[in-house]
Amino acid sequence: MLIGEKKIERPFRWGIVGGGKTSQVGYKHRLGAMRDNTSFVLTAAAFDIDFERGREFGKNLCMDETRLYPDYQTMFAEEAKRPDGIEAVDIATPNFLHYEACKAALEAGLHVICEKPLFFEVEQGLEIQKLAEEKGKIVCVDYGFSGFDLLSQMRHMILNGAIGEVTMVDLRYAHGFGCDPTGDTQAEGQMWRVNPAKVGRSFVLGDLSTHTFYMSEMICPQLKLKQVLCDRQSFIKTRAPLEDNAYVLMRYENGAVGRMWASCVNAGDMSSQHIRIVGTKASLEWNDMHPDELRYEVQGQPVQTLIRGMDYLCGDALEYERLGALHYTGLIESWSNLYNRFAVAMDAKNRGDEETLKNLVYPDLAHGIDGIRWINKCVESADKGAVWVDFE
Ligand code: NAD
Repeated sequence: MLIGEKKIERPFRWGIVGGGKTSQVGYKHRLGAMRDNTSFVLTAAAFDIDFERGREFGKNLCMDETRLYPDYQTMFAEEAKRPDGIEAVDIATPNFLHYEACKAALEAGLHVICEKPLFFEVEQGLEIQKLAEEKGKIVCVDYGFSGFDLLSQMRHMILNGAIGEVTMVDLRYAHGFGCDPTGDTQAEGQMWRVNPAKVGRSFVLGDLSTHTFYMSEMICPQLKLKQVLCDRQSFIKTRAPLEDNAYVLMRYENGAVGRMWASCVNAGDMSSQHIRIVGTKASLEWNDMHPDELRYEVQGQPVQTLIRGMDYLCGDALEYERLGALHYTGLIESWSNLYNRFAVAMDAKNRGDEETLKNLVYPDLAHGIDGIRWINKCVESADKGAVWVDFE
């Protein structure tokens, strides 16, 4: 159970860049980080590209007005002067700012939590990895769906042979919210998503499938991706060359295969992410609209539905239990679980506790770099005419 227990000595003083009043994702960060009051305390912010809007927002959240800043550069510089300055920062801005803000944060001696997709180039990821090592800091990535308890159960069952050898990985993050292109030219949160200078080389491959790809890595850590083949389309023509739909085939080192469907033009579909892992004896299936239920299908036997919070689950799936099995959880619990792990990682790094870091399952910098590689290799494959390309 996790009801007020402390996983670290005291919460980190935490700042945020972006995530202001109009942002899609800021609320999830704040709720995730401060759910238990034991991991992070929101202390300073450069919430918004529009300083006045950001300041008003911070005041409404009852924050100290003197710690609401016009930009992240000022925030890092001013907070560094204080004995009670921030120790960690969240980068929740549009994609093109992630790299420079992350670099500046590390240089200012802060642990970082960065939004996905991490950066545009793998080389940038490797450079940040080197800087983070030099500074002794942690960089986490907000694959916000990956904290659901039953994903830990899937990982446990797969690693313990409950489905046999994994043969097929079937992934999907395909919704219909991009069918209407009006937002492409009118909505603040959509305009940068269809602008290659701000979003990078891809739209839905980066915006959506990096989440589900990380979740597959987390659930099946034994699988190593060998090759991808991607075909991508811009059904809303003005989005080209950015795709609003993509199909990816995967080949893994051990002979397993997979597929990913990423789309924002899957009209009418509200069911979001589906993950089905097929093994030689059985399959596991989960989707994020019913995150508290995990289907376990053993060939030749009745289907079982495993329910979050029940005693028969593994320890990792029960570690963050707060509600009891009778009551349903949602996305914010997933984010809170992740933020707990982020805090544990930062605390372990501060204490030089490499053993804890080695055993902690969370989206770290290496997974963020895998996400960049995933996007770029899929785009490379598609742009060469949907051919197989090596993942590494
Ligand atoms: P958005 O456009 O809705 O919000 C962006 C926010 O950043 C706004 O508050 C804006 O004012 C602020 N901002 C922009 N430039 C800034 C700057 N220079 N300094 C300070 N603030 C600045 O975008 P969004 O949908 O919230 O996405 C932001 C990031 O979060 C993206 O990288 C996106 O991929 C990611 N995201 C992740 C998830 C998830 O589940 N992890 C969900 C949605 C978005």
